Amino acid sequence: MEIESTNPRGCYCGLWQTHPEGMRAKHYNEGYCGVCERCGKPGHTRHHPAKLPVTSAWCDRCYKIVYFTRFRYSLYFWVGLLAVLFTVSKIF
Ligand SMILES: [Zn+2]
Ligand SMILES: [Zn+2]
Repeated sequence: MEIESTNPRGCYCGLWQTHPEGMRAKHYNEGYCGVCERCGKPGHTRHHPAKLPVTSAWCDRCYKIVYFTRFRYSLYFWVGLLAVLFTVSKIF
């Protein structure tokens, strides 16, 4: 599904203007376009904050948590990769 809205969040809240009955059918609270996948509160459906090819719904609070969690994981990934490269370069 294409994102029809151009709001600052980049979420689907624009559908409240174009398809409000569809949003009510999904039991979304007015002013929200999704249910947070982490805490179950009303949230917004949007792309993953770390530009992953993932679209899900998060509230504003969890969106930040997801963003920083992703950043931490990527840091571990790069540190781990450097450690592997360092070890390999010692063997050869
Ligand atoms: Zn929204
Ligand atoms: Zn949440």
